[in-house]
Amino acid sequence: MLSVRNLSITFAMYEAGLRRRAITPIAGLDLDVRAGELLGVIGASGSGKSLLAHAVLGILPSNASAAGQIWFKGELLTPARQEALRGKEIALIPQSVGFLDPLMRVGRQVRRAAQLSGASSPVEAQRRIFERYGLRPQDARLYPFQLSGGMARRVLVSTAAVGQASLIIADEPTPGLHPEVVAETLRHMRELADEGRAVLLITHDVGAALTVADRIAVFYAGTTVEVAPVADFQGDGAALRHPYTRALWRALPQNEFISLPGAQPTPDDLPAGCLFAPRCPLATAECRAARPELRPVRGGWARCIHVES
Ligand code: SF4
Repeated sequence: MLSVRNLSITFAMYEAGLRRRAITPIAGLDLDVRAGELLGVIGASGSGKSLLAHAVLGILPSNASAAGQIWFKGELLTPARQEALRGKEIALIPQSVGFLDPLMRVGRQVRRAAQLSGASSPVEAQRRIFERYGLRPQDARLYPFQLSGGMARRVLVSTAAVGQASLIIADEPTPGLHPEVVAETLRHMRELADEGRAVLLITHDVGAALTVADRIAVFYAGTTVEVAPVADFQGDGAALRHPYTRALWRALPQNEFISLPGAQPTPDDLPAGCLFAPRCPLATAECRAARPELRPVRGGWARCIHVES
């Protein structure tokens, strides 16, 4: 459904004295999402997760430029195609209720999304989607500020799911929510995949992603370092391929709960060679010589020269 190949995103910045400089927070992002699959995209803040979503949707800020390729249903996603598909074939579940229009009743917002996606009867589509997500008919008359956290989540999911979008991108849909609402939102993501859509679940919550995803793509400092089936996240993490993924797995409270020393590098201060080398317990001089390629390893992908096939 979606293939991202060697995506890089560069921002033009102006410093004091109007000196122009460029930073590249994403370089070498690769992933694939299939129809009926839920791909969890995990990584720390600043690893490029949300930028990926914006690049796919074609909503990067005007000072950003993208290189590489994004394919959707076998065709290259050009800016014109992105504009034509956004909200119809490709839908976003955003981070917060702040993405809803504060001055418009939520029912109308969902009907508008239904209309955009080509529904023959937006009124009927909104009624059905509210019923599906446990919203009462009278909730359609509420404004966003009148919604509870759980209702707001259901309205945001309704807005994305009301049409026939084949690809749904959920950008950090769960932070700050009550555990019950988190579980409900994740269940909705899984249902969307099970009905044949491709779902990209972007989250920093590794544990949450593992409960519903089929595969996990791990981002580090703007690159994909591993893509692994969820089943590989078990035991001591020996089935995982990349040292960073293993460190994330071991840092979970239900595992060793030991955090990885050091910090992810910033885009303006990237190390030579492997971006993880300064924190990697397995790093050698060879690791610092060149940026490793993402390569197929044991049914997944890893960007590490020392991982065994
Ligand atoms: S390439 Fe080297 S530094 Fe990078 S993750 Fe692999 S072992 Fe660690």
